[in-house]
Amino acid sequence: MENTRNQVSTKNPTLLQSEELHEYILKTGVYPREPNPLKELRIATANHPMAFMGIAPDAGQLMTMLLKLVNPKNAIEIGVFTGYSLLLTALTIPDYGKITAIDKNRKAYEIGLPIIKKAGVEHKIDFTESPALPILDKLLENPEKEGSFDFAFVDADKNNYWNYHKRLMKLVKIGGMVIYDNTLWGGSVALREEDVPEAKREWRQCAIEFNKLISADPRVEMSQVPLGDGITICRRVC
Ligand code: SAH
Ligand code: CA
Repeated sequence: MENTRNQVSTKNPTLLQSEELHEYILKTGVYPREPNPLKELRIATANHPMAFMGIAPDAGQLMTMLLKLVNPKNAIEIGVFTGYSLLLTALTIPDYGKITAIDKNRKAYEIGLPIIKKAGVEHKIDFTESPALPILDKLLENPEKEGSFDFAFVDADKNNYWNYHKRLMKLVKIGGMVIYDNTLWGGSVALREEDVPEAKREWRQCAIEFNKLISADPRVEMSQVPLGDGITICRRVC
């Protein structure tokens, strides 16, 4: 059994001790409980060359539980891809809930959309094809939008995470939750730069800087969870 602890995995990265342990967790506690529409969407995405970008199903399961606790009326998602995290959110929030979903490219969303429609939750989703920053800035032009979101999930361009965070600290209410995906970037944040493949270095640096800033941000409580590719769970406190 190969121990992957000190390697940067390139595909569906796991930060656990071994790929086998990751498989064990998925097969024991995650896949048997994964709602059918999510399973269908995961399988429909599996052959996509960028499939590794989706939130890991085990991290998604934790996000589902947190969403149930927060019970958001208004959620925002930055980085939709084929829609696994979006569908997960839409299936979990109440029927009157709404999700502002933003992705600069709609093409991958078209793969998930028929499954989202079939699951009967499309009415909760307001999808906008655009880079996310101008949309967040536009929302902030309306003072009524300040503090109007209960939940945000950020899973887009890592170089903008801090820019998203600055805006989300106004858009998400005090007490609301923000989750950032890929904050451990395949474990590369803890490796020397020369040991990291060149293609991963730029966003490794972004993750390192973001993690430092968020850790020092008094506006949030945070927990860095080593599930999937690393998720950072924040609760706005002031
Ligand atoms: N949350 C998704 C995965 C998102 S992958 C899931 O669970 O499946 C990252 C997505 O971010 C891609 O679809 C990409 O098009 C989008 N993206 C990248 N840069 C962006 C930007 N500046 N604004 C909005 N979306 C962006
Ligand atoms: Ca991701």
